[in-house]
Amino acid sequence: MKHMADHVQSCPATISSLGQTDHCTTLQSDDFQIQTVEHILSALAGLEIDNAYVELQGNEIPASDGSAAPFVELLQACGITSQEEPRRYIKIVQPISVEEEHRSITVLPSALPHITYFIDFPHPMIQQQEYRHACTPQEFQKKIAGARTFAFRQEVEFLWSRGLGLGGSLYNTVVFSETGLVNEDELRFPDECVRHKVLDLIGDMSLLGFPVIGHFIAKCAGHALHTQLVQAIVNNPDKWILLNAGETNKFQVLNGQTSPSTIAHLSQLQPAFHSV
Ligand SMILES: [Zn+2]
Repeated sequence: MKHMADHVQSCPATISSLGQTDHCTTLQSDDFQIQTVEHILSALAGLEIDNAYVELQGNEIPASDGSAAPFVELLQACGITSQEEPRRYIKIVQPISVEEEHRSITVLPSALPHITYFIDFPHPMIQQQEYRHACTPQEFQKKIAGARTFAFRQEVEFLWSRGLGLGGSLYNTVVFSETGLVNEDELRFPDECVRHKVLDLIGDMSLLGFPVIGHFIAKCAGHALHTQLVQAIVNNPDKWILLNAGETNKFQVLNGQTSPSTIAHLSQLQPAFHSV
């Protein structure tokens, strides 16, 4: 890829760059926009990579197979390096919640990072699904990264009729018909849908700029609510503390009253997108 310095635009992968969240998570800075960042951000966060540049041409991250697995494979193939700067974590000390009608997401204090996700779709192959994820790179790689985006035939046909979602195909989306699957291949996991929601949440939460030590409990949520929770965490610095992992992996409290501007400053270590 050839770089033309005066054509390079960049955008930090933080909540301050958030654009619309209708069907995917979009980042924007000035007149530059990047759609569908959630799966590659999930791969980065799932593998505990804090510091990376993602270069892209165009304004959308390739859908690949609709999961985070191809990004995980590429990241592992190019190698991951430990850097000297200690990891910093946000440790939740009081619950923070956002809700909208029957959808909600809460993060509770917890000794270790966990996600519990609950979905309820009136489809015979989905219905109610609940998944509890212990946030480690190994669990992410084995159980979450391969879960693909899903959609319903009626919804997909409606989008196509309006000229939207044209990049969607049966290669990168699990499409449900009224009673079964449109795709010829099987689901990768019986509960692939709820696992994909966990994947999306991990990607969206990474816009906070720090991994979170807390227990996320999401009910029928989506990108809009995920990112509202990120903003609620930023807006409530009295409900968490910032920890430094330190060399011995013993946590040290950096300060008890961290402000949103501190987050903005410290989160410059976050992944950033460069468009060339
Ligand atoms: Zn997704």
